[in-house]
Amino acid sequence: MDSASDGERLEELRIAVNRERLVETAKALISVPSPTRSAGAVADRLAEILADDGFEVKRPEADWPEAPAVVVRLETGRRGRTLQFDGHLDTVHLPFVPPSLEDGILCGSGASDMKGGIAAAVEALRALRETEALAGGGVLLTAHDHHEGPWGDRRQVRALVAEGFVGDAVMLPEYLADRLPLAGRGMAIFEVSIRREGDPVHEVLRAPETPDVPGVGAELVCRLRSLNKTLAKTSDPWSGRDAVFVGFIESGEIYNQAPVGCTVRGTRRWVTPGRTDAVEAGFRALVDELAVESGTSATVDFQIQGDAFRVSHEDAIVSAFQSAYSAVTGRELPVGGKPFVDDGNSYAAFAGIPALTHGPDAKGAHTLSEAVAVDELVRVARVYAMTAVAYCGGVVQGPE
Ligand SMILES: [Zn+2]
Repeated sequence: MDSASDGERLEELRIAVNRERLVETAKALISVPSPTRSAGAVADRLAEILADDGFEVKRPEADWPEAPAVVVRLETGRRGRTLQFDGHLDTVHLPFVPPSLEDGILCGSGASDMKGGIAAAVEALRALRETEALAGGGVLLTAHDHHEGPWGDRRQVRALVAEGFVGDAVMLPEYLADRLPLAGRGMAIFEVSIRREGDPVHEVLRAPETPDVPGVGAELVCRLRSLNKTLAKTSDPWSGRDAVFVGFIESGEIYNQAPVGCTVRGTRRWVTPGRTDAVEAGFRALVDELAVESGTSATVDFQIQGDAFRVSHEDAIVSAFQSAYSAVTGRELPVGGKPFVDDGNSYAAFAGIPALTHGPDAKGAHTLSEAVAVDELVRVARVYAMTAVAYCGGVVQGPE
């Protein structure tokens, strides 16, 4: 393509993104309640919308028959890469807020996280089809349940990858718009339960060798605090540093009773991809050592929420995204780290593909006051469509 026809094509695409249609899709998705593990009805609704648009919709169960995933492919039949747009249709378990639109701001459950973003990705797909803008390759749209923790365990993303519903790169329209995250930390939520043998007993009646269970819990907190200092040496310019954090400790019933149990909860985060097993083993060893020393037993629940990931500056998806972002906004997006763990971490870990999280500048995720500007959704739809044009085929070298 010469640059004149490039410019015309992008202008066509810009115009093809239909604001009203995007809003209607977002409202339709928000209007169906879908707490995590109960996203079946909204998945059905999305499948219906896409089928009415004339797309061929697949519904792989993907390890969650209660809410089969929604999959659509836009294929050119020509050589090129496949760009995946992926979103979760489930929302956190909070009271349902129906959709409303006022002064260009869309509200309701999932407006920000992330039904608005999914509607933008759907609108990008429609615009790409109408303008036949893809020179090669194709776009894969996937939407699923099982994202939000602690209710979901990301099994559907894992199954989608295993069943081949995966692109050469993935974009996730989560609510992050102020930076392009090229790295993110892995994260696990831990719960340590320390127990001693015997029953609760008045302090003056206990045997002298009775383990001081709250003291062991306090010692664990101290050891984790000094571990946290050591971990600071391991860092990444974008995603931050390795860390361990304690946010909860509980033991005892009253002031003069020697309790039998103590619970400590917190998070462990790491910057190096592929270290999940080593991080867990190290944590368990620290707890086991303390249990042996103190004559207690300790069980560790270590729930991995996602591995760390890094995307290379050199990756074709990064330049494709930045060219699209510049075409839509007139500037490049600064590079940074991803503050949260999302399904992008899973795509990077399970499929080894680069994952870019970019979505609307939206407010109120995980609250009752989710709000997103329709202008932002339109912008995201344009950026997604133009990224696909730059990434999938024609201009760049893609796989056969
Ligand atoms: Zn989300």
